[in-house]
Order: sequence, then C-alpha cells, then structure tokens
Amino acid sequence: MDKIEVKQLAEDFIANSTDNQIKMDSKAPPDLVGEKIYDAPIFGFGDASDDVFAILKEPDVIGCHFRYPREWLPTAQTVISFFLPYSEAVKASNREQKIWPSWGWLVGRVEGHRLLRALLLDLEMHLKKAGYATIVPSMDKKFFSITEPIEELCGEPLAFTSNWSERHIAYLCGLGTFGLSKGLITEKGIAGRFGSLVTELPLEPNQRPYGIYNAYCTQCGACVKQCPVKAISIESGKDHRLCSIFLDKTADKFSPRYGCGKCQVNVPCESGIPGQHK
Ligand code: SF4
Ligand code: SF4
Repeated sequence: MDKIEVKQLAEDFIANSTDNQIKMDSKAPPDLVGEKIYDAPIFGFGDASDDVFAILKEPDVIGCHFRYPREWLPTAQTVISFFLPYSEAVKASNREQKIWPSWGWLVGRVEGHRLLRALLLDLEMHLKKAGYATIVPSMDKKFFSITEPIEELCGEPLAFTSNWSERHIAYLCGLGTFGLSKGLITEKGIAGRFGSLVTELPLEPNQRPYGIYNAYCTQCGACVKQCPVKAISIESGKDHRLCSIFLDKTADKFSPRYGCGKCQVNVPCESGIPGQHK
C-alpha cells in the first residue's frame, strides 16, 4: 500500500458515500437537499518518530499531556493527516446568514463529523487488512478533550485542550498553517474538517512548505469582523471561551446540531491560501 492508494481509498469513500450529501430528513431548505457536504480530501504525511512533534509538548503550544504518535502506537512509522473541505453549497449557505449558522453548516458540522469518523474507520480497516497496525487517536479510549480546567495537566489547570490535536498534526504534516481565528489554512482553505491516523505503514513524509506557524495568514482581520460575538481580535487572536459560549447557544437553538463557522466563510482564506487563489 502506498500514498496513492491511501488517497484513492479516501477519495472513493467520500465520492461514493450516500452520507456525503444533505438529506431531506435533515429538514434543510429544499435547495440544499442533495448537495454534497465535502469535496475530495487532501493529505499530509509525517514521520511518526520525527522530533518535531516535541514542540506540541511545550506548555504554550499544547502541553505535556500531548501524546506522541508512538505513545499511541509504539511501532508507528507514519502519521496520516487529511483535510475534508466543505462543499461550495455548505460554505455559500453560511455566507448568507450573518449571525446564526446556516442549515447547511449545521449538517456539515454534525452529519459531516459522523462521515469523517466513518472515513477514519474505513482507512483504519484497510490499513489493518493490509497488515499494518493502525490507530485513530481521536477515537481511541485514551483520547481526551476538555473545555473546563477540571484536571491538573502539566502541573496547572488547562482549559480547551486535548492530548491529540488534528490541526496541530495537520500543520506538522505539511497541510497548512494557523490563521488568526485558530483554524488551519490549507491550499483548499480553512472551511472544513481534519482527521488523522497513526500507522505502521511506512510512507515518505511531506515537506512543510512554510517556515512559521501562521505563514498563510495575512492578519487581514476579515475573521474578526465575521465573528458574531467578537471572540477574535488582531491583538489576542481567538478567545475560546467566548466562542464556546456561543456554540452552546447554537446547541440550545438547533439541538441536536450546533456550529457557527462564520470566521471560516466570507474571508480571504475560506477556500485557499490568501493571495494564491481566485
Ligand atoms: S480571515 Fe484574514 S486574519 Fe482571519 S485567518 Fe483568514 S487570513 Fe488570517
Ligand atoms: S466559530 Fe463563530 S463564535 Fe467561534 S470564533 Fe468563529 S465566528 Fe466566532
């Protein structure tokens, strides 16, 4: 199995899944029903033994609770990271609504997350079938993600953290760099979802075509203006607590769905790297 096969498996899965569309029973507006949730994924690959992962143990990045690829799977050779860009239909629907998430975005966030997990399980199954032990960290029983500082981590109470971060992994696997809004800007933009696997399959790692963590962000401030609750500022970046409070409100209003993503649409980094796309 090689990179081409891994990518092809994922592309076929997304292209052929009947769950990669907005369905009638989601109660979405009729013009959205039948539209795709995701476009084809793009991939990045990292060496599981690369010392570069140590940076994620730094207290001002993630912290000592971050688990190295080989802490998830001691025999790991490669970290596979991918980005699933939202379709134009999903993004366009959220551009129109100024405060609350569009129905297309809500479906993309919730049903889209289920599809992302299904893709991860499918890739894991194929890799294991080919003889390579594989783990999906975000679906492993050792994975945790917290919003409240209820645990003493690295000697201090930390909030809004996890022991495996898809965006940080994607950054180190060459997929993109961080924006002011704390999303990751890829060649397909910022609006979409990330996933990753740790596997014994040896694959050539990607070069990172950037030197610093925010190389693709122009600091244009468009995401600042887009945020309905002023959770982003040029000076301080994103206030996770304000964002989280608003997401809770969307969960109350749109249960069982939730989401926002206004900082990912109507911005120069929505569908590409600013200055490098139409
Ligand atoms: S909208 Fe502008 S400031 Fe915000 S993340 Fe994108 S490029 Fe950076
Ligand atoms: S997701 Fe919404 S509330 Fe959170 S930072 Fe982005 S625009 Fe603001």
